[in-house]
Amino acid sequence: MIGGLITKNIDVVVPCYNEEEVLNLFYTETEKIAKSIQGYNFTYIFVDDGSKDNTLMTILQLAKENDNVKYISFSRNFGKEAGMYAGLQATTGDYVIIMDADLQHPPTLFPAMIKSMEEGHDCCAARRTTRKGEAPIRSMFSRMFYRLNNKICDVDLVQGAVDYRIMTRQMVDSILELSEVQRFSKGIFAWVGFDTEWIPYENVERTVGTTKWSFTGLFKYAVDGITAFSITPLRMVTGMGFTISIFAFIYIIVTLIQTFVYGIDVPGYVTTLSAVLFLGGIIEFSLGILGEYIAHIYMEAKDRPIYITKTSNIERKDKK
Ligand code: UDP
Ligand code: MG
Repeated sequence: MIGGLITKNIDVVVPCYNEEEVLNLFYTETEKIAKSIQGYNFTYIFVDDGSKDNTLMTILQLAKENDNVKYISFSRNFGKEAGMYAGLQATTGDYVIIMDADLQHPPTLFPAMIKSMEEGHDCCAARRTTRKGEAPIRSMFSRMFYRLNNKICDVDLVQGAVDYRIMTRQMVDSILELSEVQRFSKGIFAWVGFDTEWIPYENVERTVGTTKWSFTGLFKYAVDGITAFSITPLRMVTGMGFTISIFAFIYIIVTLIQTFVYGIDVPGYVTTLSAVLFLGGIIEFSLGILGEYIAHIYMEAKDRPIYITKTSNIERKDKK
């Protein structure tokens, strides 16, 4: 027994999108581990993120057969971030675990994670040590993203960190206080602070179903992540403008001197065109960066709900 005599409650939040093939297996595998850990009550909170297959049916069946299965079903697909937020909102346990439904996050880590909590950590998170089974190009871009992010953002992200973690009630409440609509959980987890222990694990390939990520989806995710946690790109635009102005000023002086010394000279077509195109490019790029931030402000200003529940067997707390 890890937890002493008092029974503690652990909520397991599982965002699900089109996971009908794996959910039953997920539940049996996870329960097998959960049952073997004495002193803890496990409750599952499945969040059906507007799945188009029979995910909801499968969850309803699981809830019918098992008392410890709760669910929230969205009115449409709101994305994994919204799913995690809704799941976290529904938790009441002493500890909260977040994990994927596809068994890529091995429940065999539960004992080690719980042990870490009992040792006094606020959080214990899993970190992939290999990227086996992932397209090399995806791994490469992923590594580039981490390097760039950690260079320009206030919060450092850990290489290989996945959304598989256990947290104290206090940390979960802090996360829920960040109620931004466009959520970047990897950043939010890091931003709230607290003492996190990292446990490494070997990447597990998805056995059933398919990944829900596309390359453009991941790219958008990376841009959102950076703009949500850093204003460095905006400063970069200022820096770029300043540098170009200095070069332009020097160029004007040089040209003026040339004109006075050697007389009026008609500047070359190529030079003019290059300058126009170069500056055009920089201006477009800068506008794009500004646009990203304006888009963030726009989306947040609308203050829409993060998700809409269609059905659930959980009483909704009066929060956003
Ligand atoms: N997911 C979700 N909503 C989405 C996409 C994914 O709730 O719009 C869930 C999905 O069911 C899974 C987890 O998020 O439990 C991770 O998704 P996936 O396995 O596709 O991502 P990967 O493991 O490839 O990063
Ligand atoms: Mg997966």
